[in-house]
Amino acid sequence: MTCKINRSTMLRYFTVLLFFLFSVSLLYTQEEYKEIINNDSSFTNEKPHRVVKTLNKKTKKNKPKNIILLIGDGMGLSQVYAAMTVNGGQLNIAQMPYTGFSITTCYDKYITDSGAGGTAIAIGKKTYYGALGVDAEAMPSESILEIAEKHSLKTGLVSTSAITHATPASFIAHQKSRNMYEEIANDFLNTDIDVFIGGGKKHFIQRKDGRNLLTELKTKGYQVGEKLTDIEDLKRPYAVLTDSVHTPKYPHRGELLPDATDMAVKTLSTGKKGFFLMVEGSQIDWGCHQNNTDYLLLETLDFDKAVGKALEFAVKDKNTLVIVTADHETGGMAIVGGNFEKHTIQAKYASTKHTAVMVPVFAYGPGADCFTGIYQNTDIFKKMKLLFGFK
Ligand code: MG
Ligand code: ZN
Repeated sequence: MTCKINRSTMLRYFTVLLFFLFSVSLLYTQEEYKEIINNDSSFTNEKPHRVVKTLNKKTKKNKPKNIILLIGDGMGLSQVYAAMTVNGGQLNIAQMPYTGFSITTCYDKYITDSGAGGTAIAIGKKTYYGALGVDAEAMPSESILEIAEKHSLKTGLVSTSAITHATPASFIAHQKSRNMYEEIANDFLNTDIDVFIGGGKKHFIQRKDGRNLLTELKTKGYQVGEKLTDIEDLKRPYAVLTDSVHTPKYPHRGELLPDATDMAVKTLSTGKKGFFLMVEGSQIDWGCHQNNTDYLLLETLDFDKAVGKALEFAVKDKNTLVIVTADHETGGMAIVGGNFEKHTIQAKYASTKHTAVMVPVFAYGPGADCFTGIYQNTDIFKKMKLLFGFK
């Protein structure tokens, strides 16, 4: 009898242990981009890029028809200024006439993750660490993308991580944890999003429930591809899932981020009622976690090229508000040396994690003047909603 109890207890412990090991291994595969593989501190930019010309502060209109929100994950002021330095003192971001600061703290922690950080911007509510599109009570709350969709605007998401990853997913999915990738992929089908481009194919096709969400998307009328050039009709909805999980780092993925931004804007601007587009430079954060100056700066420069595409469109269109910000800073980056002519910087890092410091917000276009000052990340949602004229 005793022996029996012992055996069942042991079995129970063994099951718990197995489950624990399984969870740890899952967590490890998800977070491997945070591994420190390179601790270099200097960077020289071999290929400075041209930037848009200085942008006018004044706009004729004060309400935008379209909003393009670009999020550099982990991109604090040092990351921006380092990129500006190695690009010879100029960035597209630096041409944007209105600037402010966003406070990124989340509901239950002083320092946020990208789930709670993205969610605050997407739904306008502070939520708990690791949440995704849900409030502090784990209740789903409509995102700015979903509200825009309800008002017949066209909508899109572009990312250099899996499209199911925290930042892009905050705008479309509602799950109690950011790690529920397959459930998040499923949420894409509950919306009428017009365009999404990023990695994450695996979460649509290699699923525990055996469903093939790409087939289901096709049935819903989406064009589905693995490369931007796979999409034949830019006027119809499409999903481009370039990689199984995340896209390769820059320059191995080529000009995917600026090109995808350009293509998404072309498609979304065909709508009569306007559009909302979120573009994420996902891997700035990962370079910062690794304290890898080359990685984070190549990613920030690539992100700035995507900002350039958004600004070029906004300058021509005159009805588009462009907002550039971050969900939080990563790495506690400090610039301890640099040279504009030689396109170099030297950096040091206080952390391999996210930090608490406020992040900059840059704005251009109708309504851009609303983004000056210091405010909560949740106010970015509120300002966008107000400027769109949604109740
Ligand atoms: Mg992200
Ligand atoms: Zn991070």
